Amino acid sequence: MNKEKKHILSGMQPTGRLHLGHYLGVLTNYVHLQHDYDCYFMAADLHSMTVFYSNYKEAQNYILPLISDWLAAGINPEKAVIFVQSDVPQHSELAVILGMYTPVSWLMRNPTYKEKQENVEKDIDSLGFLGYPVLQAADILLYDADLVPIGEDQLPHLDLTRDIVNRFNHFNKSGNDEKVFKLPKPLLSKFPKVLGTDGRKMSKSYNNTLILSEEEDSLMKKIMTMKTDTARIRKTDKGNPLNCPVFTYYDFFCKDRKDEASSGCKTASIGCKDCKNIIGSEIVKNLTPFREKWHEVKDDHNLVFDILSDGAKKAKKKASETMERLKEKLGFH
Ligand code: SF4
Repeated sequence: MNKEKKHILSGMQPTGRLHLGHYLGVLTNYVHLQHDYDCYFMAADLHSMTVFYSNYKEAQNYILPLISDWLAAGINPEKAVIFVQSDVPQHSELAVILGMYTPVSWLMRNPTYKEKQENVEKDIDSLGFLGYPVLQAADILLYDADLVPIGEDQLPHLDLTRDIVNRFNHFNKSGNDEKVFKLPKPLLSKFPKVLGTDGRKMSKSYNNTLILSEEEDSLMKKIMTMKTDTARIRKTDKGNPLNCPVFTYYDFFCKDRKDEASSGCKTASIGCKDCKNIIGSEIVKNLTPFREKWHEVKDDHNLVFDILSDGAKKAKKKASETMERLKEKLGFH
């Protein structure tokens, strides 16, 4: 890794096949970041265990497809360290130590704790789920991450990491005060809200996704059934593009045709089928390089294993340097 460059840590949980929402949000961001920063991108399988605790093998089965999707999207193992969280035992070790500096009340206040408990169907009332922000803090701190790419809604999580670092530093001051941990900062990224086929946020749990590796005809079929402005029942009904989920895709894929579609919709000179054909072909065209690469890598398990093994070596090296520094500071034998 390059000493001059800032470090970035980010991860995705292996929970299923990636969709267009991931592509337009996280993956394109990763591809840009890898050119300017030393990036550590991790398959966060320990985090997925908060939900997959009773069927963990399922989460493990999603790791190779996740990495294949990353490679297909253009994440380059020559530029970024790609690894699986559980291959680096220091994540768990550091989480235990940081847990000693984390008041339970901070975890109880975590806004996603209650929200997820209410929305995830499975029983996730566990110590592991309550403490997952501590594991997140360990993920970030192990790699001396200067920056963490997040959306505004995730700022409270990073604040918690920063609070843990400050509390750790408060209790472990010493004469020459070399700090063990850097205070990570947010790299605020705009993750666009991508709507699914039913008009709600695209999400696996709503079963409304356009899967990145899906074949063209299946993608087109889904797009043709997408929800539109409900006021347009007949082709002669005038519509309002601002009430239409399909219209939101013009911004992502064909801005230059947005005005024409808007006035065509308002005057009923175009039908929803025309619009969907335009958007559908643009999505298919834009995802063609992804699909081609995905077909190359999806069954090449040796390639993915080699990348992960190399990534684990690099990640472990960095993580053990951090742990040595920490243990020396704390006085471990
Ligand atoms: S014409 Fe296009 S923008 Fe208007 S409602 Fe139909 S799909 Fe949406």
